[in-house]
Amino acid sequence: MRILLVEDEPRAAQMLAKGLREESYAVDVVADGEAALYHASITDYDAIVLDVLLPIQNGLAVCREIRKGGSAVPVLMLTARDAVDSRIAGLDSGADDYLTKPFDFGELLARLRAVIRRGARPVAPAVMTVGPLELDTRARQARRSGRLLALTAREYALLEHLALHANAVVGRADIAEHVWDSQYDPMSNVIDVCVQRLRRKIDGVGQPSLIATRRGEGYMLMAASGGASTS
Ligand code: CA
Repeated sequence: MRILLVEDEPRAAQMLAKGLREESYAVDVVADGEAALYHASITDYDAIVLDVLLPIQNGLAVCREIRKGGSAVPVLMLTARDAVDSRIAGLDSGADDYLTKPFDFGELLARLRAVIRRGARPVAPAVMTVGPLELDTRARQARRSGRLLALTAREYALLEHLALHANAVVGRADIAEHVWDSQYDPMSNVIDVCVQRLRRKIDGVGQPSLIATRRGEGYMLMAASGGASTS
């Protein structure tokens, strides 16, 4: 899941981004409305967390502009305390939900999950089962045959993205867009390296990998056990 975080206050932006990354979201951070619109136009985000009070263009104008362009990306707006007008204006501008500052980080996570769930794209159910794997999408933990796997936030995010599209080939560009942030270097092999690490953690000894490689196409998580070739 890839999030665009639009917040001009550096410390707040840093704290939120850190917290979201620990929850295994990929996060791009921008500090003004113009940068927000640019990023939203080039990347298919899973959600946007949008502060209302921003330089250049405020969050309301940004949200209206995004909706005018036909995008249905879930938008969670951050509004000033007790500013009822601002909340109403936020929803009128096309935001899916709002959160009043200051807020509890746990509530932000819950509302973020809710707006993503209500969005049109495929969303992880609370528990996903793919072959011997079981993913708890709330706790962001994965088990194989009941055994808890020690995955990093990025490895979990990659596994969840593959699990959402189990038995379908997922291309590197798609993985980069939803699991990595704008720091991703398309010339690097970080995705392949992460897949290798994930395989070592999820695959059974002496058994074919659950993650198949489709040369030149991408990767596929197999729901049926066995039969995956890892050329
Ligand atoms: Ca602000």
